Amino acid sequence: MEKKQFKAESKRLLDIVVNSIYTNREIFLRELISNASDAIDKIYYKTLVDDSLVFEKDNYYIKVVLDKKNRVLKIIDTGIGMTKEELDENLGTIAKSGSLQFKKENTLKDGYDIIGQFGVGFYSAFLVADKVAVITKAFGSDKAYKWESQGVDGYTIEECEKDSVGTEIILNIKDNTEDENFDDYLDEYRLRYIIKKYSDFIRYPIKMDMNRKRLKDGSENEYEDYIEEETINSMVPIWRKNKNELTDEDYNNFYFEKHYGFDKPIKHMHLSIDGAVRYNAILYIPEKIPYDFYTKEYEKGLELYSNGVLIMNKCGDLLPDYFGFVKGIVDSEDLSLNISREILQHDRQLRFIAKNIKNKIKKELENMLKNERDKYEIFYKSFGRQLKYGVYSDFGANKEDLQDLLMFYSSKEKKMVTLDEYISRMPQEQKYIYYAAGESIERIDKLPQTEIVSDKGYEILYFTDDVDEFAIRMMMKYKDKEFKSVSSGDLGIESEEKTQESDEKENKELFEAMKDILSEKVKYVKSSKRLKTHPVCLSNDGDLTIEMEKILNSMPT
Ligand code: ADP
Ligand code: MG
Repeated sequence: MEKKQFKAESKRLLDIVVNSIYTNREIFLRELISNASDAIDKIYYKTLVDDSLVFEKDNYYIKVVLDKKNRVLKIIDTGIGMTKEELDENLGTIAKSGSLQFKKENTLKDGYDIIGQFGVGFYSAFLVADKVAVITKAFGSDKAYKWESQGVDGYTIEECEKDSVGTEIILNIKDNTEDENFDDYLDEYRLRYIIKKYSDFIRYPIKMDMNRKRLKDGSENEYEDYIEEETINSMVPIWRKNKNELTDEDYNNFYFEKHYGFDKPIKHMHLSIDGAVRYNAILYIPEKIPYDFYTKEYEKGLELYSNGVLIMNKCGDLLPDYFGFVKGIVDSEDLSLNISREILQHDRQLRFIAKNIKNKIKKELENMLKNERDKYEIFYKSFGRQLKYGVYSDFGANKEDLQDLLMFYSSKEKKMVTLDEYISRMPQEQKYIYYAAGESIERIDKLPQTEIVSDKGYEILYFTDDVDEFAIRMMMKYKDKEFKSVSSGDLGIESEEKTQESDEKENKELFEAMKDILSEKVKYVKSSKRLKTHPVCLSNDGDLTIEMEKILNSMPT
């Protein structure tokens, strides 16, 4: 029998998996069970679209079988199975989602952590097994095949016998080492615990034979052993469960399980909406920007289910761009399963859900801002920019949704403040919301133009992000107060005794000489009412401030 080599990328990953010093080996079971569940999903889906097939619920399950004596653990499913070609293709090459992990591995130093939190798919079997066999029979095929591998040195495929359609994964569990106890994975109670922890919401029953004891018939103190098959998972998807039954850890586990991010989510939301359109959703606000967030590859969207069956992995229409960082799933019984992508966009129910979700996220962020300020500031550090882009885009159409979520550094408070907080501190006579734009807080602190405004006792918002001034211009006003750059011509502050005109006359010759020397560097030199202790400042009289001009000039044309 010919031995085939793994494709190069798969081989490297396998290498990492096999050789990792690794504490979280137990996730192999989660990966194998989720593959089994996917395989049953695929059969289920076939029966949905083909009227000649029926889905007999009881015929579909996952079974975990233990043979302690021979150190064998089997994961059996009644899913769609694999043809010979599929075996070769799927298990000889790393799957797509797996390769994403792999890429990520290259950007982080400690690759093992990744395996710790995230799946590496099928290959995770090698975390606990020194030999893995897959016996499978594909739906619609009368031949069965056996794939076998002892790790990096390759795999074999041969024909074999199998009665029913589906797949059996057979693991030869490693021997114990000095530091690690692999017997754990041959212990039914340990396995039950792992299944409960990671796979409780799998929609098909995960069964296992449990050894139990009971009193012998008629006896009061004599026990006998017996075996009982138990369905271990509750099968209720996490989003259908009652919030009260779930812990933060459950939600975090689901976040990891779904590969939503490498961070811990800063907030989760669990929605059960029972209105005009019914839906359940679990949404996460991540703490950190995903590494690919600002690349073309990043795709916003939520997983979309219709009554428990996956319709789409990333439904972008469910999230506005400015909340594109939100992760999660939506399940609605009011959506049709056979809905196509194009129809989806125009679907009334879906639009309703999208709007509802947008409002919920907004509310959640507002609550966080109000009640958990520290957390909000961490969030804002990661995604504030996104919110500001939201205000700027669509010609300010999202202003109402976002303006109360914005924060800027304040000259007075020396920390981030909201626009509402700014307004509430404004002295009666102050007409405008003042801001100053610059590269950094330190730079703005030294801007001559800020002095006169600060001296009046007015607070200044510091704009250090490219998008800030553009966003604010789009807003124009906040609660009827206009924004005003400290560099603008009319500051709305009472002028000093000396008029600009007399000043200009007195210094005419000096200004002309200065302009001569500076020549092309400035348009003109004139007297300013905006200076206090600083001798000069730069100013412009166009519509754009100097900072905005800088940004526009730096953009590729
Ligand atoms: P992923 O599940 O992310 O695609 P995996 O490495 O877990 O990646 O699995 C690779 C592929 O192998 C799957 O996409 C699937 O096509 C196939 N596969 C794995 N396990 C099974 C199974 N139990 N039944 C049918 N196909 C399977
Ligand atoms: Mg998988």
